[in-house]
Amino acid sequence: MPSSSNASREAAERQDKESPVSESALETARRQLQHAAASLDIDPNIVERLKHPKRVQEVAVPIKRDDGSVDVFSGYRAQHDSVRGPYKGGLRYHPDVTRDECVGLSMWMTWKCAVMDLPFGGAKGGVAVNPKELSKAEKERLTRRFTEELREIIGPNQDIPAPDMGTDPQTMAWMMDAYSMQEGETTPGVVTGKPPVIGGSEGREEAPGRSVALITRLACEYYDRDLDETTVAVQGYGSVGANAARLLDEWGATIVAVSDVNGALYDPNGIDTTSVPSHDEEPEAVTRDADTVISNDELLTLDVDVLIPAALGNVITQDNAADIEADLVVEGANGPITAAADSILETRDVAVIPDILANAGGVTVSYFEWLQDINRRAWSLERVYDELETEMERAWRAVQTEFERHDVTWRDAAYIVALSRIAAAHETRGLWP
Ligand code: GLU
Repeated sequence: MPSSSNASREAAERQDKESPVSESALETARRQLQHAAASLDIDPNIVERLKHPKRVQEVAVPIKRDDGSVDVFSGYRAQHDSVRGPYKGGLRYHPDVTRDECVGLSMWMTWKCAVMDLPFGGAKGGVAVNPKELSKAEKERLTRRFTEELREIIGPNQDIPAPDMGTDPQTMAWMMDAYSMQEGETTPGVVTGKPPVIGGSEGREEAPGRSVALITRLACEYYDRDLDETTVAVQGYGSVGANAARLLDEWGATIVAVSDVNGALYDPNGIDTTSVPSHDEEPEAVTRDADTVISNDELLTLDVDVLIPAALGNVITQDNAADIEADLVVEGANGPITAAADSILETRDVAVIPDILANAGGVTVSYFEWLQDINRRAWSLERVYDELETEMERAWRAVQTEFERHDVTWRDAAYIVALSRIAAAHETRGLWP
């Protein structure tokens, strides 16, 4: 197991001076870009271009509440880079949504699509609203109005939204309907993550969790670790955490802890993951019948082989990074590790498999969905799973090659793969005029 050291403290202190504790997603994204660019011989002008989004649309989204009053929310769509294809990325409904957060997350989507070699660029957007405080009818009105405000800049060949925090297949169905009604033609390819009955893909909802499990298995193979002898703790039991935990459980790993907002269920002998309700099956019920409940913070520092943070961003920070006991951390959530924590883990030789690779199954199956919509032909679940596995293995091998060639972290290796592809496309297309 890795141990805390003077070196890791020094790394944290160095990082503290360089970055504020609560670095925004945009600052983190720019820092990671700069860091990866340093390992590569790419034109600094291209790096400079990639620090800025192509466009950020900021809109007011007024809706009539059920009581007849009117509320106005702020909505955003950040389109970062489209050199490799149409913009792609989720829309979130969350009170903390800001312009800068959308820009930072849109940059991550650019790298994520490029790591997976998908013909898409990166975008992200959302509305600063607490969806729990909206009735279903209010959420529908908000979604339809937001879609109309974005209509000129989205489309199957322009920018294709998908679900993210606080949005789901139903939200995508309303978007697809609002867009199609105004355009005068049914356009399923304008969004992905729709219900299959209107052109959504089988397997899309489980895809991010499935890719986290596939990448965890590949990482364990790489480090000669037998899944049958591997203990795993998973923070979060939503679509990503529950699907990853259940698959790894099925493949022989011992899942010793899973959690939701109320805390973590812990059993060193292993949890039967199918008997614990996921957030989608029954919200906030993970610890209801538990014998031993520990806190979410305690889960992160359990003495396990693999840790999968699959809930929120910024949960592993400079305050707890020295206490992480896992040898391998696989990022299920987007951005669960702060920059300061990342360098502490690096000094302590904890392998961190980054979000842009591990949870990229979501956008990869989104790509399959887009292909199915364009071709008006649905794929079987089996085909989706097969092709997803092939794509995850291909991406893993590309990242592994850079990991070994440059002797860098897995995160840097993934950025090197992404950035090389994006830079090559920019160089080949050129700057116009
Ligand atoms: N919101 C998801 C992500 O962060 C999926 C995006 C998509 O499918 O376009 O990767």
